[in-house]
Formats: sequence, C-alpha cells, structure tokens
Amino acid sequence: MQISVELGLLPSDFVVISGKRKRSAKGQAESSKASKGHHRPSTTAAATQASNQTKHTGSSSHGVEKRHPEDTSDHYAYLDDAPEERGPPPEPMDPEHSLDVTVSTKKVAAPATTVHWDPDSPDGRKVGWKIKIALSGDNWVDGRIVRYDPYTHKHKIALDREEGKDDKNHGGNEHTESDDAAWIWLRNEQHNLQVATRIVWAHVKGYAWWPALVMESNMREDRRDGYVHVEFFGSGEVSVLRDSPESVRDFTPDAIDPVVAKHKKKRNVKAYSLACNECQLVRNVRNEAAVFYAEKAMLMANAHANAAMKSNNKGTGSLGGLVGKSIKIHRSDVNYPYGDTLTGTVRAFSSFQKKWLVSFEISEQTKAKYEAAWINVLAKDCSLRVLDKAKKSFDTEDLVPYLYGFNTIPAGKLDPQHAKSRDADLCKLLTERCHGCVEYRKPDDIQCVCKECSSVFHLSCLDPPISLDTWIRMQKDNTPFVCSRCTPCRGCYQKDVAFGCHVHPLPPTLSFPNSETLNLCAMCKEAYDAERFCPNCAHSWDDKKFDKVRQQLEFVTTKKKRKGGTTLIQDTASPLVFGSFSGDEILPLGAKVDPMLFYPETSNWGYTEVEMLVCDACKVWVHAGCAGITEDEYDTISDGDHPIHSREFLCRVCCRKRCKDLISALQQEDRTGLFAVPVSEKVAPNYRDIIKNPMDLFTMLERAESEEYQNYAWVRDMFELMVLNALTFNRMVSFEK
Ligand SMILES: [Zn+2]
Ligand SMILES: [Zn+2]
Ligand SMILES: [Zn+2]
Ligand SMILES: [Zn+2]
Ligand SMILES: [Zn+2]
Repeated sequence: MQISVELGLLPSDFVVISGKRKRSAKGQAESSKASKGHHRPSTTAAATQASNQTKHTGSSSHGVEKRHPEDTSDHYAYLDDAPEERGPPPEPMDPEHSLDVTVSTKKVAAPATTVHWDPDSPDGRKVGWKIKIALSGDNWVDGRIVRYDPYTHKHKIALDREEGKDDKNHGGNEHTESDDAAWIWLRNEQHNLQVATRIVWAHVKGYAWWPALVMESNMREDRRDGYVHVEFFGSGEVSVLRDSPESVRDFTPDAIDPVVAKHKKKRNVKAYSLACNECQLVRNVRNEAAVFYAEKAMLMANAHANAAMKSNNKGTGSLGGLVGKSIKIHRSDVNYPYGDTLTGTVRAFSSFQKKWLVSFEISEQTKAKYEAAWINVLAKDCSLRVLDKAKKSFDTEDLVPYLYGFNTIPAGKLDPQHAKSRDADLCKLLTERCHGCVEYRKPDDIQCVCKECSSVFHLSCLDPPISLDTWIRMQKDNTPFVCSRCTPCRGCYQKDVAFGCHVHPLPPTLSFPNSETLNLCAMCKEAYDAERFCPNCAHSWDDKKFDKVRQQLEFVTTKKKRKGGTTLIQDTASPLVFGSFSGDEILPLGAKVDPMLFYPETSNWGYTEVEMLVCDACKVWVHAGCAGITEDEYDTISDGDHPIHSREFLCRVCCRKRCKDLISALQQEDRTGLFAVPVSEKVAPNYRDIIKNPMDLFTMLERAESEEYQNYAWVRDMFELMVLNALTFNRMVSFEK
C-alpha cells in the first residue's frame, strides 16, 4: 500500500499565502477594514460574504429620529503622547441611551438592535445594590447601581450627592435623574470597589444578631474563601465573618429567622428597620430598571416593525410604531366568515412571526368579544386604520408585554410611597392579566405559566402561539414551559426582552449538540443571517460594536471635579478581569467558556472579533480560542510559519469532514482489508504483547466521528502508528521463526 500522506492531506491546488488568515494584527483600526475586505479578495466566496456583510450592516439601522449625543469631547484625554495618530475621540459611552434606536449617518457604530435584559444574570443581579468606589486611597464614594447596559456591559452608578456623609435614608427615586452618575465597568481594575450582594443577619460572638450587608470587592486579593465582608446597619462597622449558618443567615424583611429569633441577646430595632428599608430600596430600584428596559424594548419593537414595513414599501413612516396604539381592522378569515370590523389595541410586535398581537374590544356589529390574536395588520384585507396616531406617550398597560424582572408585591404590602404609584398598577396588571394581550384572564382560561418569570399567558398570545394539542402533550410529558423572553440566546447567552429568542435553523457549518435547539435573539439572528457566528462555539460577533467598545478602552476620561466635590468617574483604560464577583464563574447552560470572554473589553485572549481565523473550506470565521490556538501559535500562523494551520485551517465541522474523507480514502487503498478492523486474538494471539498502541482504520473513523480535535494532523500520526505497528509485529514474528 503506497499512500503519500504528505500529499494526501492537502488539496493539490493549494497555495500557501502567508498571513492570510488573521483578522487583524493591530486591533480595531484594521478589524473594521477586515469586515469589508476579509483578506481574501481573490476568492469569490469571500467577496460574496463581504458584500453581504456590508449590505447587512447598512440595513441594521432603523428609521427613527436621530439622537444628538451630548458634546462631552472635553472629557476625553489621550492615553499616550501621540494623540494625532488616534483620530478623534470616540462617541461618549452612555448606557442610558445605548439602547435607543438611532440612525447613525456617520456609520460610527452599530446601534443596538434589541434590548437584552436578564435580571438573573451575573450583571443583572447587581442592579439595585449599594456600591462603594475608591476614587483614590481612602477617598470612598457611596452610590447605588441603577442600570446595567447590555450593549457596553457597563453599570450605571447613581452617586450619593454629598460625599463623605453616610446618609442611608434617601429615597430610591431621586437617583434616576441625578447628575452625579458614573458609568463604569464593575470588573475594571482601575477602581477598587465594593458591591453589596446580600442582606443578612450577621453574628459576632458575644453580640446580638445584627442585620448587615455583605460587601464584595472586585479585587481578588481582598477576598478569602469561605469568608464574607459584612457592614452592619446603623453602625457602619465592618467585620469579616465565616460564611456559615452559625454566623451569617439570610435576611427576609417580613419573617425573623428562627435561629435569630431564639437568640438571647436583644435585636436592635433601628438596625432591623434600616435593613427592611434597604430591601425595599433594592427592590424598587430593580423594578425601576425593569420598567426602563420595558420602555426601551417597546420602542425597539416599534422601530423594527417600522423597518419591516418600510422594506415592504408600505410607506408607514408616518404611522410611528403601532405597539400601544388603538387600531381598527377588518377581519374575514376562517374564524370570521362574515367579516367584522374590529377596534383593538396593538400589544406587541413579533419579529419572528412578522405579526402584531392585537387585543380586541367587543364588536359593534356582532356584540361578540374576540380573543386577542397575532395578525399581520398590514395585509391588504385588514384595511388598517390607526385611531390615535398622535399618541406620543404610552400607558402603564402598554409596558406589560415587555416587562420582565419586575418584582410584584401583594397590594396590601406595598409601602405607602408606592401604594398609589405606577408600581402598584403594574403589580395588579401582572397578577391579574395575560402577559401578552394584557386582558383579564377568565377562570376557565388555560394558565400557561412560564417556569422562569412566572408570567401567565393565553396559549394564543405566546410568540409563537401554541396549539391546545401541543399544550396537552407538554402537560403529559411534564415539559416545563419557558416563554420566549426567558429563553436564553445561544449566540450571546443573553435574554431578549424586545423580541424574545426563537428557534433558528442550524447552519451546516455550525458544530452544535444534537440534543439542543439553536435559539437566537434578534441581534444574533441578524448576525447568523450574515454568517457572523463562530462555527465552533455558536457565538455571534459584530465588528462595529467591537470597535466602538474597544475605542473606549483606549481613551481615558479625565476625572472632573464636580460642585459638591464628587469626582465623576467615567471610562478607564484598565484591563478587565472577568469573574471577579462570586457567582460569576457559574456558566450558563450549554456554555463551554464564560460568555463574558466574548465581550469586546475582555482582557482574555482568543475570543473576540480580532482573534479569529477563517476556515479555508467554508469561509466562516472561527475564534482562535475556540480552535484551541494559543497567542504564540496565532502569530506563527499569520506569519505563515505554522506547520499545519498556515497551510490550511479548518473549522470543526470541516475538519471532521476532512478526517472522514482522508480515512475513507485510506480504506479504499486498503484493498485487502489488512488495516480495516482491530487485530483480534484469533488472528494473532501474541499481538497485544508486542503492540502496545494498536490502531486501525475502523478505530480512526470512530475517533473522527466522536472527538473534538483542533486539526487533522492526528490522521497522519495514527496512520504512521498503524503502519509502524504492522512493520514491528511482522519483523518480530519473522524473527521468532
Ligand atoms: Zn392573552
Ligand atoms: Zn418567562
Ligand atoms: Zn443573542
Ligand atoms: Zn468561538
Ligand atoms: Zn469550515
């Protein structure tokens, strides 16, 4: 058998071009070029891909009015001595507006295309809690985390107005519009900071149980395994305690913990009420955040719907968004054989179904009450009329379908400050109405409850709706129901409160477990349609967004002295260390690497938009980290010196295919079946004594099917091992004779 492995491994027309695979050597300036040119202008596949991408990015901005970012250019100072090489300072990072729908005429950055908000994610969980930031040395300022910006991954901190004064009794509402706000990356090492993560009963020997805040530092060296840093309410004193039930117990405002209740020493009443206030404050701020994201999501939904309408040449720019508006439509489908003109309210837009969820009023003609339904209101026979075109603001009701992470409290238990507020209305709406159509649920309606958010839906109000049969089957199989907003995206591991995550067909180049479904958010769906996903890890990528965030890292803002003496903190250039708070290291379901590694500001190498390689077979870009390539190897590859990848780099699916092709080519050559299967005891009784590592083509094929390997060089190794085994064994056997 004569097979040249050397030639067999590579296609005969293969030409080595050095440095052709690296996306960019110098960071963002080139990576935006890379997104257009893609390094391989000579091949038509790459050119098509590049043009698709350009086209796509162009259409991702939606037709809503343009925001003028405030001029904050004087805040920026350059990091090094050669500012002229860096170009103008980047747009200010303003998480408050990053989710706004903007038309970027300057094409400076990709606008957010959806609203990601997950109150239970490592970053979402931090919203509402107290924070302390060290500006310099012992100069600490207090504040509260009021928002998390899913676009830039920064948190917004409302700083306490008077520096140095430990005033814990101010209300939560005044924070939101405060001037004294900072937007920071919590895991940025520039600031030493402490974030409250739990309210507990803490016990120091000889003292009474005392309510306290557990404060976590972002500095790894400030932490000790199994111990927590607590700050006692009312006294401001701090202590480090062992995190065990003997000294630290969870605090709930309405019920005193039994162990705490039994203790001999008297509890401090003032500290207890301070802790109860703090619980309320955290909840109120988190609810405010949920409302904030609901509003953004609703606007985003309207913007997407507008874009969809425009591309259909419906010319509906003047309609504004339909969500929240009253409309009149004609229905004459199967359910309405005689036709009926109905008045209703648009509740939501589904980008997945390209339909609007409409709840109807009682029909004037038939006096019937129609169930809410998903309808393409733009269809000709609907004869859509918008009744309140001029409606500018929206009602509390309008927010319900977009409201996620809102903590409801029974009506009687609301604090006086909130008893008559919008929060109280929302609590009522969320407990009594359908989360989709916002209509009352009748006692005989099916209660379709989301396992994650506990929202209740009509079956027909789900996006997409499910049939009664499907529902009955799910009940039988004990399949838990999770609504589309609570379904995490496999492209970014975030939750999409504007559009939800929906099943996407598997691209042939994606290496994906058979047992799972590829659910994608609106942002990642766009990315997948433009082939901006890593075939090895399924994560999506975005050059423009990446550039925007990277530029922020390169520029540092000067610290501005404010009137009250507080220093305004903004972006810094320090590296980010992920997983610096407890719980951060827990990976979401299905994730192999920490999703935070894919963030543009990550200090970890191998998972961002820059460190990618293009697969020579399918032309899809792969993260170097996902391909198991180190930084050194990556440099070698782009210099053209890597023995394997510089000649050909393949994604996981293409590599598997290549391995199988090679092995079946070897099987073809092995006409006598000499190497077809493992050598058995029967054929050669003493084989295992002589050959320690047996190998055969069948085993190789099995391995090719089942393992995750970085390249196919092992095929050569295994082939050589197989041949060597044969030579060794035959020589030994003939020697013995
Ligand atoms: Zn409903
Ligand atoms: Zn849900
Ligand atoms: Zn996504
Ligand atoms: Zn990847
Ligand atoms: Zn490939």
